[in-house]
Amino acid sequence: MGVKRTEREAGGTAGAAERVLGVRGPSPLEEVRDERFARHGVRLLLKRDDLLHPEVTGNKWRKLVPNLDAALAGGHRSVLTFGGAWSNHLRATAAAGRLLGLRTIGVVRGEELAGRPLNPSLARCAADGMRLHFVSRADYRERHRPEYLHRLCAGFAAAGPFAEPYVVPEGGSNALAVRGCAALGRELDAAAPPGPRPHLAAVPCGTGGTLAGLAAGLGRDQSALGIPVLKGGFLADGIRRLQCETYGAPRGDWRLDERFHHGGYARTPAALTAFAEDFAARHGVPVPEPVYVAKLLWALTALTAEGAFPPGTVLAAVITG
Ligand SMILES: *Cc1c(COP(=O)(O)O)cnc(C)c1O
Repeated sequence: MGVKRTEREAGGTAGAAERVLGVRGPSPLEEVRDERFARHGVRLLLKRDDLLHPEVTGNKWRKLVPNLDAALAGGHRSVLTFGGAWSNHLRATAAAGRLLGLRTIGVVRGEELAGRPLNPSLARCAADGMRLHFVSRADYRERHRPEYLHRLCAGFAAAGPFAEPYVVPEGGSNALAVRGCAALGRELDAAAPPGPRPHLAAVPCGTGGTLAGLAAGLGRDQSALGIPVLKGGFLADGIRRLQCETYGAPRGDWRLDERFHHGGYARTPAALTAFAEDFAARHGVPVPEPVYVAKLLWALTALTAEGAFPPGTVLAAVITG
């Protein structure tokens, strides 16, 4: 953590993690024709980050690559990170670890899960070799405190290759991850004719690390919109803090619209599921990932219907996974 890396920004040599996990060019930017947008004069583009890597998908690839490079450069043999029982981040970390030959430790919220059959998401992590370490909710809340991290890591001191892990915070969001996600903004800035260049790029938000980087990478005439999927309200502070940690100051033009969480994290009402299936059928794309991406597309459809975007707006929805 805290390692400075600028070669990706300069477009220079790919690091070890990026070589193993696949050096891709910019992810595709595809226009879809959707009456619900067209009738308001809005053009909708899908930024297909879900195609970045088959296992380390979307924004997790952008965030993990610079962190895994730092882990390898620092001589670590293992990576320790945090997540809930259905965490996309834990799954991506486990898969990346397997591909790179790094051991992984997943600190999972909920000690009651220990000793029970694993859900499919955690079973996938375990199959990829991740060592699962279940902790109580009270302990999990300590995950940012240096003393707690120290104690946690010390617990693996005698565990061979798991000892002295490189620590990645929950959701993968740290300064390196923000720099990784800035590349997403730069790709959208560089989008050139014949493809349209977006005025506004929208992402779903968990920790907000992706939005923090996206906004920093966009051009001066572009802005970013975040759709939080958790009920809460402190997200904007967290995003500013991440940008300050990364760049020393807030960056870019971004805002949040907090109205589209659908009851909270992992709540997927039937209407949202039906919307997602219909979107896939209309446009011949995979059914949007339900926890984040479906809520983003729903929000953009609702905002367009409200007249939130002036006619002529080119909108890019980032398909983060
Ligand atoms: C993890 C995840 C997010 C949330 O990203 P943050 O940087 O934590 O805001 C969004 N979309 C998908 C598909 C994810 O898996």
